[in-house]
Amino acid sequence: MVHLITSNTAIKFLRFNTSRLKAFSTAMMEKPEVLMTRCDIAPNVLEELKSRCKLTLWNKESAASRTFLLENIPGKSGIFCFLTDKIDKELLDTAGPNLKVVSTFSVGYDHIDVKECQQRNIKIGYTPDVLTEATAELTLGLLLCTSRRLIEAHEEARTGGWTTWSPSWMTGPGLGESTVGIVGFGRIGQSVALKVKAFNAKNILYFNRSEKQNEAKITGAVKVSFEELLKQSDFIICCCALTKETQNMFNIESFAKMKRTAVFINTSRGGLVDQNALVDALENGTIRAAGLDVTVPEPLPLDHRLFKMSNCTILPHIGSATIEARTAMAKLTLDNLMNALEDKPMPAQLKL
Ligand code: NAP
Repeated sequence: MVHLITSNTAIKFLRFNTSRLKAFSTAMMEKPEVLMTRCDIAPNVLEELKSRCKLTLWNKESAASRTFLLENIPGKSGIFCFLTDKIDKELLDTAGPNLKVVSTFSVGYDHIDVKECQQRNIKIGYTPDVLTEATAELTLGLLLCTSRRLIEAHEEARTGGWTTWSPSWMTGPGLGESTVGIVGFGRIGQSVALKVKAFNAKNILYFNRSEKQNEAKITGAVKVSFEELLKQSDFIICCCALTKETQNMFNIESFAKMKRTAVFINTSRGGLVDQNALVDALENGTIRAAGLDVTVPEPLPLDHRLFKMSNCTILPHIGSATIEARTAMAKLTLDNLMNALEDKPMPAQLKL
């Protein structure tokens, strides 16, 4: 009798655990395989990703190495990537036919070979809107920092250069009554225009591929040719996407057309600027000053000539770096990825 109970219990126990094991292994099998190239994102988003995917994770707070990418992409259904990863033909070829989605933690997609993705029916997710305010805010911060010489002034105050108040010392051009030219009148460009308007700029000009006349009404911004914008603007702000057409659009000829008093700001991508031409323009007094959140390469080598110039402010690509924006970017990148993997509409799919 005792034996009978024991063996019945043992059989029930075995059956129960075998079915749980089966359920567990089925769930694991059904989880999509995803490659993620950084681990330093909002912890709750990372946890959710781990619970919904079989995740291969670059577990360091640095950009994933190319070797890691190439070794781990084969067979994956999705990739959660960043602007520091090159998603090119070689990587897509190595991935194989399972890859359904590339979800990038960025609004810029110049690191992704969009055509190669399209040819393979691989969806691309990106993060528009959630970082617009943060990036536009930083753009204004960098502009004021550069034109009003805030870093230089702080250094003077810190190192004894501030001996007395002086009427002409540390002066720079003000935004009030100025003409501001915005190159690339997309989400960020338009938000920059609103902010510049609040600083009482007299004229806001923009240059853009498409018309954007309705969007311009709210600030009274006027569309002009690239050349006109360069000639007329006191401040030139680059908010344009980096493409084959826009690469190096700020070159020796562009700087030569600007006013000698012009302040140039770039928070878009370093590739839009011919950096050697910018160095020359700043050294020769072709323009007054420049503020850059983006450079080529990133990080800029410590011995780079731009670091030696008092009329150049350089930030380490922190345009979208508010806590709120980075948290929202993480969530949107996750939602784009999971929806594509589950054949649901993506909240922000790149469609060109
Ligand atoms: P967006 O809305 O797509 O704006 C990009 C603008 O560039 C569009 O208005 C587009 O014109 C224009 N453009 C593209 N090609 C052009 C060309 N050949 N000539 C003239 N204009 C052209 O994107 P966004 O959200 O404002 O972001 C803009 C860029 O900022 C991103 O691409 C990204 O690289 C950069 N970004 C940097 C940071 C940072 O941390 N520093 C943060 C966020 C974004 P159409 O209207 O005709 O398309």
